[in-house]
Amino acid sequence: MGLCRVLPVTHPYFDAIVVGVRFFKNFRCGSPMKIVVVGAAPTGLGLAYRLNEIRKEHPEEAEDVELVLLEQESFAGGLSRTVTDKKGFLWDMGGHITFNHNYPYYEEATKWAVDEWNDLQRNCLVDMNYLFGEKGIHLVPYPAQFAVPLFPENVKKSCLKDLKERYENYGEMDAKAPRTFEEWILKHFGPTILDTFFKPYTRKVWTVETEEMSPNWVGTRVAKLPQEKLEELCALDPEQLQKADFGWGPNAVFCFPKYGGTGNVWKSMASKLPQEWFKYNAEVTNIDVKGKSVTYTDKVSGEVQKMDYDVLVNTAPIDQLVKSTKICSELDVEHNKVFIVGVGLELPVTKFCEPFTWLYFPDPAVPFYRVTFLSRYGEVTPDSSKYWSVMCECARKEADPVTEEEITGLAIEGLITKGIITRDQIVSVYSTTLDYGYPIPTIMRDSELARAHTVLEDNSIFSRGRFGGWKYEVSNQDHCFVQGRELIDRLVLGIPEKAYKTGVVSRKTA
Ligand SMILES: Cc1cc2nc3c(=O)[nH]c(=O)nc-3n(C[C@H](O)[C@H](O)[C@H](O)COP(=O)(O)OP(=O)(O)OC[C@H]3O[C@@H](n4cnc5c(N)ncnc54)[C@H](O)[C@@H]3O)c2cc1C
Repeated sequence: MGLCRVLPVTHPYFDAIVVGVRFFKNFRCGSPMKIVVVGAAPTGLGLAYRLNEIRKEHPEEAEDVELVLLEQESFAGGLSRTVTDKKGFLWDMGGHITFNHNYPYYEEATKWAVDEWNDLQRNCLVDMNYLFGEKGIHLVPYPAQFAVPLFPENVKKSCLKDLKERYENYGEMDAKAPRTFEEWILKHFGPTILDTFFKPYTRKVWTVETEEMSPNWVGTRVAKLPQEKLEELCALDPEQLQKADFGWGPNAVFCFPKYGGTGNVWKSMASKLPQEWFKYNAEVTNIDVKGKSVTYTDKVSGEVQKMDYDVLVNTAPIDQLVKSTKICSELDVEHNKVFIVGVGLELPVTKFCEPFTWLYFPDPAVPFYRVTFLSRYGEVTPDSSKYWSVMCECARKEADPVTEEEITGLAIEGLITKGIITRDQIVSVYSTTLDYGYPIPTIMRDSELARAHTVLEDNSIFSRGRFGGWKYEVSNQDHCFVQGRELIDRLVLGIPEKAYKTGVVSRKTA
């Protein structure tokens, strides 16, 4: 037991705090640590999967660690679940694709969970019909900023002028750090691309204005446009442009479970881990921060139970955690909601849609920001020789009064207007509302989260995951899974976390 275990300062074995992580020197000496996790989805499962490994790799470190995952649903998966509708079509909660390239560890774990996968090549375009004054669909390559050579002549000229200015004055402009996402766009692309693409698309997917967002999340998520690439594309004639390689981005190749949708990965992983760790239908209703216990209701029996913990890991939304525990004042963070509308259809697939994995829609005239051709990904229809399916994602502000029924109607009309489906093909319509869809990277986000993590960690509570951690740039399945893994490595082996930055300022004490 030579290793330090990272535990919060309130723990009786507290010894010292070193470089931003609170350490305990030879702390446990055989004393047990009970970890209770709220939620059994990618974050909780990343933690459980890793603890299962640690038990084999470092049995002496793990022998006195007890784990319980309390999950309010009757199955694992959370937002990465898959639902089967009444007609037998399978629906993910939005276009979930599994990126493996970031983390080989995640790839290994998901392949351990599910044997059969399809490898798919991303093929997606952006509908920019509104730029051309057209009603239907006008597809240009993805990302839209790479498609400048295909824009209407006047827009193209204006974009090129903006970009040229940026390239020429790059040194000068580079010195100024952008404060907002809008400033970041202006710095890299200029006002024309901001107005023609980023503003309408940001309103659709994020439901806020570009100036309300921080640029901190951007990283590799928004493609910058190298001058050479743009010049190369602008030199092509229209026929060559149609065939040009606009390929960019981290998700050019992805994989998807052959059967059972995305949810199959998480249900299957949970079923292969020690079953005594999982308590399903267990809805946490109260957290006693001082007394270190959670109260949960068994949704099947209706029984109310109390469970003590040494460490609590929260993967439910952190704003709710803070609000319900009153551990500090409420957080000034924002999220939107997402409506999922799935349409099951009779074959044939509409000809022009055949090659695509998904399409983006900045067009304000339709409610969806993305349409996924889900039946291309895996076996997700009752019979793939008869049916295909499309899934729309429609984001709205949290307080938007629009109903799921209204959005569903608008989405179906939008699919028809865009020529993606015909009404007579429809055999099934599924819809659901995700009250928490995207954690919005607002300007105050990081300081607000740091304020919460500081007091949470002082009370042995660690909040991680898509809404537990609230950082969009690390909120996909792979990021969340790795956040879970790194947290248990920190708690049991004393290894600092890398994927999730809490912003907690290091404190040195004697
Ligand atoms: C529209 C959309 C599109 C997405 N697209 C992609 C994509 O293409 N690729 C990708 O990798 N990821 C994608 N994601 C992200 C993916 O869904 C998340 O990364 C992942 O599900 C986050 O896992 P998590 O464990 O952090 O949290 P969640 O999935 O939010 O799970 C939290 C769990 O906690 C449980 N819980 C909450 N409150 C309680 C309570 N009081 N008591 C007990 N249990 C509770 C919930 O039931 C749930 O199971 C997308 C998400 C959305 C919404």
